[in-house]
Amino acid sequence: METVHELVIIGGGCAGLTAAIYAARAKLDFVVLQGSLPGGLLTQTTEVENFPGFPESIQGAELMDRMYQQAKQFGARFLIDSATSVSPENKGYTLTLASDQFLKTQALIFATGSHPKSLGLPQEKELLGGKGLSVCATCDGFFYRNEVVCVIGGGDSACEEAIFLSKLCKKVYLIHRRNSLRASKIMADRVINNPKIEIVWSHVPVDFSIDSQGFIEALKVRNVSTNENRSLACKGVFLAIGWQPNTEHFKDFLTLDAQGYIQTLNGSVCTNHPGVFAAGDCVDARYRQACVAVGMGAQAALEAEKWLMENE
Ligand SMILES: Cc1cc2nc3c(=O)[nH]c(=O)nc-3n(C[C@H](O)[C@H](O)[C@H](O)COP(=O)(O)OP(=O)(O)OC[C@H]3O[C@@H](n4cnc5c(N)ncnc54)[C@H](O)[C@@H]3O)c2cc1C
Repeated sequence: METVHELVIIGGGCAGLTAAIYAARAKLDFVVLQGSLPGGLLTQTTEVENFPGFPESIQGAELMDRMYQQAKQFGARFLIDSATSVSPENKGYTLTLASDQFLKTQALIFATGSHPKSLGLPQEKELLGGKGLSVCATCDGFFYRNEVVCVIGGGDSACEEAIFLSKLCKKVYLIHRRNSLRASKIMADRVINNPKIEIVWSHVPVDFSIDSQGFIEALKVRNVSTNENRSLACKGVFLAIGWQPNTEHFKDFLTLDAQGYIQTLNGSVCTNHPGVFAAGDCVDARYRQACVAVGMGAQAALEAEKWLMENE
């Protein structure tokens, strides 16, 4: 007979693994699909200093391995496979996987995360792992105390990142490809009037200069009007050019907002499908923090458990 799981968790990052710990301790019959990045985005960073419980900080990969081991020790089962579509079927759901297999389940948690848009420059991936390139000032700003940094972007997020960094760093260059900021007037004014922020108008990044240890030492930028290049000496470069939630495969099934984030009901982890929940960065465009994703993962698993009990 065909197996119908009680729950499938799509995603093996902070949100998915926390949901797995709760679901395993509740003795649900469930599977975690880990996708192409088991452990999620935190495996791509080095020091994590703001996850509660680790006063000496912890490496991102180690933190995620601990979450994985914790879920496993309570009996969670994992598949290294990706969901490519979901459709409703007989009061439950059928998932098609990249391996061409199918999974059937009564309840579902989406915890597929998001990924930062990239500049498309060489070495971006290597530099992201603690070598000077960052996508999160809240996470990494502290490592650049009293240093010169660059922020790339011109919207509200870029302005917020630049203002945050100006409180820690010696100087912040804000690199923007246009000659006016896209940000709201109030944010733009705060940046323009901040003596520690210099806006480098009408410039785009073209390359990184890297020292012998592999760390960023300067960002090369090009003036889009004159084509002249300039090198900005800096220790850190923060990308603030946007994020893309990993929800593309599910756009026919889920209700998404204009950016592709999953719309939940009244800020909860419940979606408009019965027994379908969503947690972490695929929902949260605002905070994008590991401990927030962890909290949402716990909520989603508790909701799924309650829903399964009520709908048995
Ligand atoms: C370089 C870097 C440094 C960071 N540093 C910090 C920090 O210091 N502190 C902090 O709090 N936050 C930090 N963050 C943010 C933090 O990593 C995220 O907020 C957190 O990982 C979100 O967890 P998540 O589970 O929602 O998503 P993710 O961690 O992105 O995990 C998503 C999971 O879903 C899987 N997946 C995606 N699509 C599918 C699919 N179709 N089928 C199956 N599986 C799928 C992926 O393989 C992955 O396992 C950092 C982020 C980056 C990029």
